[in-house]
Amino acid sequence: MNPQNPDLHCHSTVSDGLMCPAALVERAHANGVDLLALTDHDEIGGLDEAAQAAEAAGMRFVNGTEISVSWGDDQTVHIVGLGFDRKNAALAAGLARVRGGRDARAGRIAAELAKVGIDGAYEGALKYVGNPALVSRSHFARYIVERGFARDVKTVFDHWLAKGKPGYVSHVWAELGEAIGWIGAAGGIAVLAHPGRYRLTPAQRRELYVAFKELGGRGIEVVSGSHNADEIREFAGIAREFGFLASRASDFHGPGESFIDIGRMAQLPPDLKPVWEEWD
Ligand code: AMP
Ligand code: MN
Ligand code: MN
Ligand code: MN
Repeated sequence: MNPQNPDLHCHSTVSDGLMCPAALVERAHANGVDLLALTDHDEIGGLDEAAQAAEAAGMRFVNGTEISVSWGDDQTVHIVGLGFDRKNAALAAGLARVRGGRDARAGRIAAELAKVGIDGAYEGALKYVGNPALVSRSHFARYIVERGFARDVKTVFDHWLAKGKPGYVSHVWAELGEAIGWIGAAGGIAVLAHPGRYRLTPAQRRELYVAFKELGGRGIEVVSGSHNADEIREFAGIAREFGFLASRASDFHGPGESFIDIGRMAQLPPDLKPVWEEWD
């Protein structure tokens, strides 16, 4: 496979994106994407619709998901699964379990927000949810913007929802080995999502790469919509050192909410082995 403009990470209304799967696929196609993965958080419910839309558009598509993982000392990391069988029962059951904790977590987030004067946040966030099983911090952020407490979603995270802020609650997601195992058992490739976004010390960072590789992780997002040029260089180096397959990913959530549009990222450094070569 030799795609010119692959994008292997984006979100629809099945998780915290703003567009339904079919509309997202159409936007990708219009932007010149020729290989797409939809990677909703802890969900695969949008894949049938996306695959059908991609087929209608004549665009290559691979199944994806982005699994929430608890790692180390209350850190959350995201593992993208690519190219798995979307009918696999063990993967579906694992994702259902991870999703299952989200509603109670949302109640705890709302209770913390109420303490700092933002009332009605549970019901408010639900107004933005496309999938009742998948309420996320992004939905809370949209409600807080609606209430006029902040001008945009990014500002809401900075003041209320990021780790250490008043509306943040710790939560137990999947274990790293479980997430990698579910993806692998379903025939997919586990990819470490947006490594530049984790607040880790250099030593913790290396521990994460080592653990990810030992547990069967095979890929890393070198190019992500949230990586700058220095980060792309850094994670290209990690891909070379650890022998990881390289992925290229916008992490697009919707117009106006993402810095980089679907399919509009930098290209991978040419010496890296791209993850899509596994699908030849
Ligand atoms: P959750 O899975 O409910 O913890 O929500 C995580 C999602 O929140 C991420 O996938 C992003 O879409 C969004 N998010 C996290 N941090 C930020 C941030 N600093 N700015 C904007 N969105 C963010
Ligand atoms: Mn998200
Ligand atoms: Mn993520
Ligand atoms: Mn994402």
